[in-house]
Amino acid sequence: MALRQIRLREDEILRKKCKEVKVFDDKLKSLLDDMAETMYHHNGCGLAAPQVGILKRAIVIDIGEGLVELVNPVVLKTKGRVKDNEGCLSVPGLAGPVIRPRWAKVAGYTRDGEKTIIEGEDLMARCFCHEVDHLEGVLYTDKLEGELFEVEDEEEKKV
Ligand code: ZN
Repeated sequence: MALRQIRLREDEILRKKCKEVKVFDDKLKSLLDDMAETMYHHNGCGLAAPQVGILKRAIVIDIGEGLVELVNPVVLKTKGRVKDNEGCLSVPGLAGPVIRPRWAKVAGYTRDGEKTIIEGEDLMARCFCHEVDHLEGVLYTDKLEGELFEVEDEEEKKV
């Protein structure tokens, strides 16, 4: 496993649409391993492959309930709307309010290519939507419902 460099807000790679993963090989497994290590190192609760410069549809999430890896994730269904502050490892030191679903159901694949469906609410639903947005080249700063504000490193959940 290795730490990978996190791409920051100004980096154009964060604006590109990611490609579907078709081969579930060792390269994908080491990408997912490195993404998890990088996320934990920076105290994030989610990370998408483009944030480490890889334009593949892969995300990792851990909101304190264990690591979730999803390849080719698709948001199937959502319920409710919650406005809450959000941060991002690619936008360090800042946070801002974004409306996200209260609940979301997401389909995707495991690292071994097995189909999986996961549901989550509140922070988990927020992370699903934030990370899937990354795969489309969308940042939360595009969806702000108020002003960005400065935060101390540990204050906000970074995804
Ligand atoms: Zn992010």
